[in-house]
Amino acid sequence: MSRKPMMAGNWKMYKTPAETHAFFEAFKPLMANVEHCDIVMCPPFPNLHAAVQETEGSRIAIGGQNLYWGKEGAVTGEVSGHMLQAVGCKFVIIAHSERRQYFGENEADVVRKAQAALEFGLTPIVCVGERLEEREGNRTEQVLGEQIDGGLAPLTGDQFAKIVIAYEPVWAIGTGKTATPELAAAAHRFIRGRVAAKFGEAAAAGVRILYGGSVKPDNVKKLMAEEEIDGALVGGASLDPASFAGVVQY
Ligand code: PEP
Repeated sequence: MSRKPMMAGNWKMYKTPAETHAFFEAFKPLMANVEHCDIVMCPPFPNLHAAVQETEGSRIAIGGQNLYWGKEGAVTGEVSGHMLQAVGCKFVIIAHSERRQYFGENEADVVRKAQAALEFGLTPIVCVGERLEEREGNRTEQVLGEQIDGGLAPLTGDQFAKIVIAYEPVWAIGTGKTATPELAAAAHRFIRGRVAAKFGEAAAAGVRILYGGSVKPDNVKKLMAEEEIDGALVGGASLDPASFAGVVQY
């Protein structure tokens, strides 16, 4: 089955609305002829409105970096899928390793957040990945297995068919250490196999699995040459228009 590649940027806690405007002014023309992949950018919440306006009529979709389940309520500091949808988002990142690490997000949150995202028409980009000590302790597959069984397996087949998975080994995020293409592909194969055991071969063959971890214009081509790798979730290199364009145009 052929899966359309996707390149998604994650600005984390960077850029103001004015900087968002400047980014898309430079980035949009660079994407004018890009058709081979889906392009997504996930700015911080205060920039979503500007990002949606800047990208209107283009092939660039906008996503949030997090959401809370429920439509609205007394939950100070949180943002719902309903709000992301209303501002014009199409995607939302769930359980990025920084959220797992600093805010204690766990598999129960993944289920609640993925279901809430889908309820409001957003495509969840669900992050999984092992920490350095887990890889060094030969526990990568155990950790990925637990993340998939706990966070994704509770979804229905229909829900699962709408999600995107991002494999992000935590030791490669923001460190400049990219997983080798072979190592990343092996992890993707494991994830796809685990997904097949729960949702069946067709669902496993159809789900897009992005790689994330220090992806840059100069290493993306080799990663994308791996059949198993369907795109990238990009942090640092998505902050600069030319650099993210270099990743998209691998
Ligand atoms: C990320 O934020 O998901 C990420 C992969 O960051 P970086 O590309 O900077 O490693």
